[in-house]
Amino acid sequence: MSRYAGGYAVACGLASTGNEGNADRVVEESKRALMMERFPPILGLQDARPAAGLRDLRAALRFGLARLLPQRCHLCGDGQHAAVCAPCADTLARIGPDACPRCQLPSVGGQVCGRCIRKPPAWGRLAACWSYGFPLERVLMAAKYHAGFPVLAWAAGVAAALRPAFAATRLTLLPVPLAPQRQAERGYNQALEIARVLLRDDRWRQDRLALDAMIRLRETSSQQTLAWAARRANVRGAFAATRSLSGQAVLLVDDVLTTGATLNELARAALRAGAASVDALVLARVSPPARRIRVTPFDRAAA
Ligand SMILES: [Zn+2]
Ligand SMILES: [Zn+2]
Repeated sequence: MSRYAGGYAVACGLASTGNEGNADRVVEESKRALMMERFPPILGLQDARPAAGLRDLRAALRFGLARLLPQRCHLCGDGQHAAVCAPCADTLARIGPDACPRCQLPSVGGQVCGRCIRKPPAWGRLAACWSYGFPLERVLMAAKYHAGFPVLAWAAGVAAALRPAFAATRLTLLPVPLAPQRQAERGYNQALEIARVLLRDDRWRQDRLALDAMIRLRETSSQQTLAWAARRANVRGAFAATRSLSGQAVLLVDDVLTTGATLNELARAALRAGAASVDALVLARVSPPARRIRVTPFDRAAA
């Protein structure tokens, strides 16, 4: 049971007390995961690479149900019709217009920051909804590892408002691909599901999805376990285009950006495939660890 100062109970597939709806949902999800393991050919729920139409239908069903079924807020457990209620959503740290347009880290007056001037990322513009941190991290981790589709759909729905951050030309959405083995283990790609939610929004109606335009060539070690400097080397050469993206305005889509190593490598691959421009959208942006600042203690005796 996790609590923080605001008194919220965070469940989302984690241990929960005093929030029976979430506890029931966790049990149901566990049962479903077990069924998927035991009977994948019958249920067809694991990624056995069914026809694109079937995959689209499956994702539409999942997200359609997520919208239609009554939800409890994943943060406070309040029963209403959203995966995160409005008061809880207001407590999450939104990234404001003052952030650097290339990395979404704090900047001065929304100007490109010194880091991006010294070492520009391979993408042009980055937009992110939230600054990654507690309790949002619990919500997004649940969405990623516990098939929390209602939460993912809610977060992607909020991210749909970021469309004006990008050029008005038709965008080709390119979700960060998972390695086949990881996709098979997880049963879905959260980046692809986010892209699908975006494209259902009216503001994105002229844009399109580049399904399977890029593949992940090899399994990379989990970025979670690597030091910041090692992440870049870990993903080098990890992606390859399956077709030309010539002249297209590509938008990379992912859930969380940490160092940007993965997204940077994918942007480079998209540019090699002929993309005219590459921008990126993520739900949340992790702030890098603060640099240590040597502070001289105030010496009372000398004062
Ligand atoms: Zn709430
Ligand atoms: Zn920057």
